[in-house]
Amino acid sequence: MGRLVILVSNDDGIHAPGLVGLAEALEAVGTVYVVAPDRERSTVGHALTLHRPLRVDQIAARRYRINGTPSDCVNLGILGILPSRPSLVVAGVNNGGNLGDDVTYSGTVSAAMEGTLLGIPSVAISLVSDDGAGLQAAVRFGAALASLMLSKGIPKDTLLNVNVPTEPTGVKVTKLGRRTYSEKVVEETDPRGKRYYWIGAGPPLWEAGEETDFAAIQKGLISITPLHLDLTNYQALEALRGWESRFSFRRRRPRSRRASP
Ligand code: MN
Repeated sequence: MGRLVILVSNDDGIHAPGLVGLAEALEAVGTVYVVAPDRERSTVGHALTLHRPLRVDQIAARRYRINGTPSDCVNLGILGILPSRPSLVVAGVNNGGNLGDDVTYSGTVSAAMEGTLLGIPSVAISLVSDDGAGLQAAVRFGAALASLMLSKGIPKDTLLNVNVPTEPTGVKVTKLGRRTYSEKVVEETDPRGKRYYWIGAGPPLWEAGEETDFAAIQKGLISITPLHLDLTNYQALEALRGWESRFSFRRRRPRSRRASP
């Protein structure tokens, strides 16, 4: 049997140190293909490009650059570029954390989501650091985790969201933390007298919670959060069932009756 194929992508762009380092480390685990955006596409979420053509540039052996989003890269990588289905999709190492409620904004996590949707075990790895300090530890951990995922497998329809602090001292399996939306929108006036806004200004605040990804990072632990993509709230499903009968629709008369005298 040949070596296992690993697809690596990110949202910081194909030349980002986090991706370059991780791809190199993963070569020890399998045959690495990199399919990544041609420029930074952080916080694009799970966007797919459906309204313009995508261009693929091969820049080196098994290295492909696309003018699209992280999800485009994983989708096109798996369905159009790689010679066979990969055994693993690894997104990262992202420059900056992807914690708690913020995961839905993340291009890195969305790249892993796209892998999961296509039935491939996937992991997103992010470095919680302002200046890239700790990247080596994150890369080393990413390679070790990838090899564990390949040998043990992960539960179906699940992706792993990993956040690595600057100087990790251990590993903790966590749940997503909850963001508290205390920060304000900044409103200013531009030189032409038009109003503009900055959203997401100021540091994010988090609800306290022992088991959360945020708490693990604060303690200097690497956080692994298993995520699934079924967003259905099953308790609410029951509560809302009663609404089904609260709407009225005009009943369409059968044609035969209208025709009869
Ligand atoms: Mn990013």
